[in-house]
Amino acid sequence: MTKLLILGGTTEARLLCEAVAKLNIDATVSLAGVTTTPEAMALPLRTGGFGGPSGLTRWMEEHDTQALIDATHPFAAQMPWHAFAASEEISVPRLRMLRPPFQTHDDVKRVANLKDALAKIPPDRRILLTTGRRDLDVLAERPDLTVLLRTIEPMDDLPTNATALLMRPPFAVAEEIELLTHHRIDSVIAKDSGGATASKLTAAHKLGREVVLIDRPEQPPGPLVQRVGEAVAWLTHVVGF
Ligand code: NAP
Repeated sequence: MTKLLILGGTTEARLLCEAVAKLNIDATVSLAGVTTTPEAMALPLRTGGFGGPSGLTRWMEEHDTQALIDATHPFAAQMPWHAFAASEEISVPRLRMLRPPFQTHDDVKRVANLKDALAKIPPDRRILLTTGRRDLDVLAERPDLTVLLRTIEPMDDLPTNATALLMRPPFAVAEEIELLTHHRIDSVIAKDSGGATASKLTAAHKLGREVVLIDRPEQPPGPLVQRVGEAVAWLTHVVGF
């Protein structure tokens, strides 16, 4: 039996697990299994996809799940919708925990995806790209750009105009200023992930460098909180754990 299922993959999910463990709620945290070295969790862990919304429904039924907290990443585009569909199907209370977006300056350009971001960049620029390893084929359409691609884990198929920079956040503003200066970066393209990586935006602003931010995907309807404390309050006051 698992009274509570937490869909993880974020720092906030890991912190929520710590809070839930202290409450002695019978809970399981789930990770997609995309990270080779995930951080230790304070709750029992299951790993890997459920097999779509029906697989998630089945898992929750089999484990007699009474509440679901979706604490996946702001750019996890599918899992929040699977969580929504599965919880509606079997009437399990669901909460989306989503960290606040970045607080940005007025000069930040906002776009829907990487292709649109590249369209905003003037010719022959040097770019710091922090949007992850997906959808990078569009870089081939801009061979004039020199791209420094910052990732946590190594990549096999780097686009020809990109160089990988393996670094693990968080980064101090001073480190980001040093990086942007050292690599003569003109523009930063990032996702509006929120969280601990805002320092690159502060650094770019201080140096007067262009910032293009990719907006978050749409979230399913329903209750949404931004912080661990609010999720714990939902568990005690709304679900009644
Ligand atoms: P996604 O598009 O929403 O999910 C893709 C598939 O991965 C889902 O359909 C599901 O497979 C499986 N999945 C996702 N989260 C899961 C979880 N917590 N437990 C079990 N299965 C899960 O998400 P994504 O962008 O591929 O990201 C995968 C994971 O990495 C997420 O948990 C997310 O929190 C984390 N993450 C994502 C980003 C990002 O920028 N996208 C950044 C940092 C961390 P089934 O349909 O088979 O159930």
